[in-house]
Amino acid sequence: MKILSINAGSSSLKFQMYEMPEEEVLISGRFERIGLDKSFYTVKINGEKVEKFVDLKDHSVCVEYLIKELLENKVINSLDEIKGVGHRLVHGGDKYSESVVINDKVIKTVEELSDLAPLHNPANLMGVRAFMEKIPSAIQVGCFDTAFHQTMKADRYLYPVPYEWYTKYGVRKYGFHGMSHRYVSERLSELVDKDYSNVIVCHIGNGGSISLVRDGKCVDTSMGFTPNAGIIMGSRSGDIDYSVIPYIAKKTGMTLDEIDNALNKKSGMLGTSGISSDFRDIDEAIAKKDERAIMAHYLFVNSIVNYIAKYYVELNGRIDALAFTAGVGENAPHVRRMVIDRLQCLGFKIDREKNDEIRFGKEGIISSVDSKIPVYVIPTDEEVMIARDTYKFIKK
Ligand code: AMP
Repeated sequence: MKILSINAGSSSLKFQMYEMPEEEVLISGRFERIGLDKSFYTVKINGEKVEKFVDLKDHSVCVEYLIKELLENKVINSLDEIKGVGHRLVHGGDKYSESVVINDKVIKTVEELSDLAPLHNPANLMGVRAFMEKIPSAIQVGCFDTAFHQTMKADRYLYPVPYEWYTKYGVRKYGFHGMSHRYVSERLSELVDKDYSNVIVCHIGNGGSISLVRDGKCVDTSMGFTPNAGIIMGSRSGDIDYSVIPYIAKKTGMTLDEIDNALNKKSGMLGTSGISSDFRDIDEAIAKKDERAIMAHYLFVNSIVNYIAKYYVELNGRIDALAFTAGVGENAPHVRRMVIDRLQCLGFKIDREKNDEIRFGKEGIISSVDSKIPVYVIPTDEEVMIARDTYKFIKK
C-alpha cells in the first residue's frame, strides 16, 4: 500500500512515498522556493537524484508535479493507489494528543491554533489543502509536532505566571519535535529491551530539544510555549531571562517583533559565535582557536548537560538509556563526547572509538561497557512515523 509523508512549509514541501507496511521508501524529494523566483524541485529514486527548475507558483502546482513524477517513474499507475497522505502539522495546542484524520473540523481547529504558530500552521495547511484537492481519494492524516508532549502533567507544563494567561490565552509549555522524540524513544525502548523504560532523548539539530520519556510517554521536554525555549540552538537563544526583552526595547527602540526575530534568527550559536548557526562552520573556527566560537560551544554543551542532569536527578537516576539524534546529535562526535564527559559523575562513560565511528546515518551504542547508563545514537525518522500513523488509520 502506498502512503505519502509530507512536510509543507510556506516556501518548501518535502515528500517521501512509502510502500507500507514494509516501510520501503519508493521515491522522495523536495520542492523549494515555492511562490518565489528560481523555484525548483529535487527527486530521488533508485539512488539517483535529479533537480528540475520549474515555476512553482503555489503548493497545488507542487502536488501536480509530484503526481507527474510518480506516474512517469511508474511508482504508481493510477492515483487511487495512494491510499493515504500524512502531513506534519506543527501546532495542535492542547487539542490533539495523537495523529488524526483531517476533515473540515480539524482544518478549522488548526487554523484557530495559528495564533500559537503563525509561521507554521497556515503553511502546513497550504500543503493539506493542495493534497485534498489533487488526491481526493486518499485519506489525509495530520501528525502534530506537539501531540507526543500532551502526556506532560500540569506540574510540568504550567508556567508560574498569572493563571488567566493559561486559561484565557493558552500560555503553557507545549513542546515540539514530537514525531522525532516518539520515534527515537520507541526505538530506544526496543534496544534496552525492558517492559518499562525511562529514557532521555536529545534531539540536537539546527533546532534542539531534550525530552524525558517514561514508558513511551513524554514526562517533560525542554521546548516550551514556543520552540525558542530550552537548550541553545543554531540561531535560537533557548532559555533566557525574559527581562532582556523590555531592556533591549528601551535601549534600542526595537519593536517586540524585531526582538522576537533576533531571539529566533540571530541568537544561539550564530549570535554567540558571530560566525554561523551551522556547527560545521563553528568547528572550523574552533580549529583556528576563535575565542567566541569556543565560548559558543561551551555554552551549548553546558545547556545540554544541564537538561540531562536535571532529568536524571528527577528520576533518581533510574534512567535506562540516553540517545542523541538529529543533525548535530547524529554527526558531531565531539559534541557527544563533551556532553558525556561532563556527565561522568552520574555514571555516564563514552567509548571514544565507537563514538567517532557512529555518524552519517549509523545507529549504535557509543557508551563504554562500564557506563552505568547506555548511550546510543539513533538517526531520527519523522517521515516514517508519519507514514506509520497514516497507515494505522487505513488499516482500521
Ligand atoms: P537538522 O536540523 O537536524 O537538520 O540539523 C542540521 C544541523 O546539523 C546543521 O545546521 C549543522 O549544525 C549540524 N550538522 C550537520 N552535519 C554535521 C556534521 N558533520 N558535523 C557537525 N554538525 C553537523
